[in-house]
Amino acid sequence: MLTFKEFAEFCSVIEKISSTLELSSRISSFIKNLDDNDLYNVILFIMGKIYPPWDDREIGVGIGLLYEALKQATGISKREIEDLIREKADMGLAAEMIIAKKKQTTLFQEELTIAKVREIFDEMAKLSGEGSQKRKVMLLTDIFISSTPIEARYITRLILGEMRLGVGEGIIRDAIAKAWNLDANLVERAYMISNDYGKVAVVAKNQGKKGLKSMKITLHSPVKMMLAQVAENIDSAVREMGKAGVEWKFDGSRVQIHYGNGKVTIFSRRLENVTSALPEIADEIRKNVKEGVILDGEVIAVKDGKPMPFQHVLRRFRRKHDITKMVEKIPLKVYFFDIIYDGEELIDFPLKERRERLMKAVKESEILKIAEHIITSDPKEVEKIYSSALNAGHEGVMLKNPNSPYIPGKRGKHWLKLKAVMETLDLVVVGGEWGEGKRGHLLSSFELACLDDGKLVKVGKVATGFTDEDLEELTEIFKPLIEFEEGKRVIFQPKYVFEVAYQEIQKSPKYESGYALRFPRFIRLRDDKSVDEADSIERVAKLYEGQFKR
Ligand code: AMP
Repeated sequence: MLTFKEFAEFCSVIEKISSTLELSSRISSFIKNLDDNDLYNVILFIMGKIYPPWDDREIGVGIGLLYEALKQATGISKREIEDLIREKADMGLAAEMIIAKKKQTTLFQEELTIAKVREIFDEMAKLSGEGSQKRKVMLLTDIFISSTPIEARYITRLILGEMRLGVGEGIIRDAIAKAWNLDANLVERAYMISNDYGKVAVVAKNQGKKGLKSMKITLHSPVKMMLAQVAENIDSAVREMGKAGVEWKFDGSRVQIHYGNGKVTIFSRRLENVTSALPEIADEIRKNVKEGVILDGEVIAVKDGKPMPFQHVLRRFRRKHDITKMVEKIPLKVYFFDIIYDGEELIDFPLKERRERLMKAVKESEILKIAEHIITSDPKEVEKIYSSALNAGHEGVMLKNPNSPYIPGKRGKHWLKLKAVMETLDLVVVGGEWGEGKRGHLLSSFELACLDDGKLVKVGKVATGFTDEDLEELTEIFKPLIEFEEGKRVIFQPKYVFEVAYQEIQKSPKYESGYALRFPRFIRLRDDKSVDEADSIERVAKLYEGQFKR
């Protein structure tokens, strides 16, 4: 059985490695001889996850509870803890120092194992209601009491969901492939349909190639969504594809809807379970859809026949209370454009045939629609559809290869998107500042970072483009994510992505990325994107270079 200390020490070694090849090879040797449970947990933990994203469970431990547990475990004052956190600018390192200063050491320390940590997390996830906070602090305090400094570093980071190891999905895929001598594509495919690298690793270890091949799409467990590439213009897109199935690109939010065994489950683009926020859609599905299917589509908000801005849709997705009120305030429709399961796995069927199956599975209603799909090779016709989409308040068009399979999780050439808007950046919000005067209670500027080999590096700060309502809402969202504050400045646990526009990208030593944005402007909260889907430094560099070609 693996001790948490062995795991933490391994993490501290790979934290210093930046070569992806070496990372996957080290991880592959480390996981090779683990038993099933340890293997499952190590794979998730190393990626900074306690549960796969689609799993409803969460441990519900924020910064406040962490502080409290560290205080109780060590007897060190809140003030001292805050000073250390400020000094280290990293909760994990601060926790390590705090535990190192621990005043009392207990005599009978039970050694922490990975399995024990998992057991405690699972117990925390089950707690709710009165007294649950207190109980969580107790459990966490116990963990900290029996942990060594280095264990405290990674326990803390795990709880905050940022391991800072630079280990993303690609590295895990390669590590699993290497450990059991398997084709990386096969490992990836198993992941795309199960969304659980822990499970994939266990199957790879015990059943090898055959096991991975026989992993099947199952109802109520999400499949990664197929994505689109940007097309330069209509002519080149049509030329590239020959005959294309053209659809409106709806300005809403992606959903994958599973209906089977009397149950409806709705997953967002991030594969979070959003079923309870969308009760009217679930009801309509029960009334109008054949049971035993997985559908792919876009939810939009429509009022008086016009689509409402995309933010409203996300407001609905996030809503946890007073849902009935919201159903009236922000009415939704779903436009389905694909089907990936109808009792039979359909991902390898051509789009043409999937569309036919889609028509058979869904009866259209006021709320449920099937996206119109026109097959053409005439750029003029595409242009017409494009204008009609923009006139109706949508984003542009999608061109889809009618003969293509559904490739989960891939941004490939089979789906091309044509949008009217300029290039924006999707960046992770890592810090911010409180406003002045009347806006003193609101966060009013936000620090942004892009991904560099799985790590976050800053590229700028955005303080314009927000309405007062935006700031009120963002303050509510970001307040619980504050890791520490100093004067007006705050550092956030990285969880959300902003889409920002800018006038220009400049080279600048001001930020660690080496780039800075000139006149950045907030466009929207990309609540549908997770941190690891934000833009990379390579994209920033490419856009920077592109400026000279204009
Ligand atoms: P983007 O988010 O800009 O990469 O564009 C891809 C997204 O467009 C998808 O993830 C969907 O949420 C959305 N979308 C809107 N209409 C369609 C459509 N007809 N087919 C596929 N995706 C669509």
